[in-house]
Amino acid sequence: MGDNVLHVADEAAMVRLGEQLGKASEGEGTLYLGGDLGMGKTTLCRGVLRAFGHQGAVKSPTYTLVEPYELAAASVYHFDLYRLADPEELEYVGIRDYFSERSLRLVEWSERGAGVLPEPDLRLEIDRFNSGRSVSLYPITVLGHRIVQRLEAGLQQSTV
Ligand code: ADP
Ligand code: MG
Repeated sequence: MGDNVLHVADEAAMVRLGEQLGKASEGEGTLYLGGDLGMGKTTLCRGVLRAFGHQGAVKSPTYTLVEPYELAAASVYHFDLYRLADPEELEYVGIRDYFSERSLRLVEWSERGAGVLPEPDLRLEIDRFNSGRSVSLYPITVLGHRIVQRLEAGLQQSTV
């Protein structure tokens, strides 16, 4: 495994990682969350939202494609493109508007939007690892690298 792989033992640890990730993002950027059904993508999103003060549940925005969270500290948009039949549909939901302002965008099933969905700053890939999960980080832009640096600095001060 490469340098940027984190081992996450259970669901609670996944939520804590999400919280650290949210803090590290400072409420800005596009994160693709990859991994099969049931890997913990939505769980990670729940932690990210918690970093910005959202304590409630996180429903899967499967039918609406996107669930907006307008929080005091940040605007977070949670996309789940599982049901997207054609990337062109993203034009109809006004995808550009979500990417034209300062916000944090979390995208599950980004591959379904290929060609229309903007490229990410950071891609995360979740896999099974023992009874828990591994989360691999692939930063793409300068912002993505900065988020990973801040995440790793934050993780050194608290064990996930
Ligand atoms: P996805 O959005 O990828 O389909 P979910 O976030 O809905 O997946 O989570 C699916 C299941 O995985 C949940 O039952 C959750 O408890 C479990 N889970 C999440 N993170 C971990 C982890 N790090 N280790 C073990 N189980 C986890
Ligand atoms: Mg999900």
